[in-house]
Amino acid sequence: MIIDDLKSENGHLMIGGVDSVELAKKYGTPLYVFDISQVRSQIRKFKSAFEKNNLKYQISYASKAFAVKAIYQVMKQEDVHIDVVSGGELYTALSAGFPSEKISFHGNNKSYDELLMAVKEHVGVIMLDNFHEIDLLSQILKQEKATTKVMLRLTPGISAHTHKYDQTGQTDSKFGFDVESGQADKAMKSVLDDENMELTGIHAHIGSQIFGTQGFVMLAKKMMEIAKKFQAEFNYWPKVINLGGGFGISYNEDDDPITADEFIGQIADELKKTNNEVPEIWIEPGRSIVGPAGYTLYTVGSRKDIPNLTSYLSVDGGMGDNIRPALYQAKYEAVIANKMDQPNEQTVHIAGKYCESGDILIDQQQLPKTKPGDILAMLDTGAYGYSMAMNYNRNPRPAVVFVEDGQDKLVVKRETYQDLTSLDLDY
Ligand SMILES: *Cc1c(COP(=O)(O)O)cnc(C)c1O
Repeated sequence: MIIDDLKSENGHLMIGGVDSVELAKKYGTPLYVFDISQVRSQIRKFKSAFEKNNLKYQISYASKAFAVKAIYQVMKQEDVHIDVVSGGELYTALSAGFPSEKISFHGNNKSYDELLMAVKEHVGVIMLDNFHEIDLLSQILKQEKATTKVMLRLTPGISAHTHKYDQTGQTDSKFGFDVESGQADKAMKSVLDDENMELTGIHAHIGSQIFGTQGFVMLAKKMMEIAKKFQAEFNYWPKVINLGGGFGISYNEDDDPITADEFIGQIADELKKTNNEVPEIWIEPGRSIVGPAGYTLYTVGSRKDIPNLTSYLSVDGGMGDNIRPALYQAKYEAVIANKMDQPNEQTVHIAGKYCESGDILIDQQQLPKTKPGDILAMLDTGAYGYSMAMNYNRNPRPAVVFVEDGQDKLVVKRETYQDLTSLDLDY
């Protein structure tokens, strides 16, 4: 989100047609707010890009980015698939009424119980990641007299670092079957030999917050080569090639994200070079669907000015509701939601309230003059924010509100102190 693109009325930041300052008053802070029309519009951009290029496709929202019942219900309304990576995400999606046949189950160490749950709930596809899992699943399917669709997660030797890509031989990723060393061939053989598994296709995911189309085009090309190889060796042609997620978003002006049209257009050109049938293309966007739609509202509290050096402006949340800055130096931008019409007059560190020196939400932020009680809105916090929230220092996790068409709806309650002790037992 570019600050200049934000909407305001009477000096107040508007989110989805709702006054953010009123939201802070009504629900308290810290507060996660999602502009759901932005979520829907991003999904529709992906869909229309595929349709323009006449590709058969599926969009599977990588729900680890933000996994609460209400967002699964939005995904159901938008008629997309979802990825889950744990029994807990699967449970949440099912309890939201999300159809199990549209769920892909990922993860590099799914437990026996998780796989059993996936089989019993008739999950759409189980993404097989390693040999241990093939054995476990095979055993479960026999014992349950069940069958399931599976895909093989491959590490095709392409790694995308945010700004550059390389094509390596073997990869050292913890995920998936390495192609170069022959693990993928072995896995293919095991799965094709298992009468209870139906191999839908092959999958790869090259990273996250990726800019530029080059990495995805390289991946599409490589996956088609791998498909050709499997065709020669196993007489198997995939119905689906899953290219994973990782499409970057703009957290600040240095970030230059690619549009859905750009990268899907280029992928389509690459895929259509084949003489074989072009497989169905699945993608798994997480961040790009929910990231830009999310805002975190905080109340400004204390301030520390160190003469001739620097200033810290503290807010009533921090690493417990958004660990990304502390965890991997993620960059964000923020505005004062009740002073959108005032010029910037200071540069401060935005500090969280947690007892860690590293709990700095934003290193350098320009802001108008501030005073305690002002509402700070951090932008683009929708992905890997609430889903990574925790209770360090016994701070309750924030509430989550969805806004759309000028209406607001509480979708996750604020945790209470009673909630915090609800699992504790006396000794
Ligand atoms: C995390 C993940 C995604 C989503 O990545 P984003 O960067 O949020 O788009 C997609 N596929 C797999 C397998 C993942 O692990």
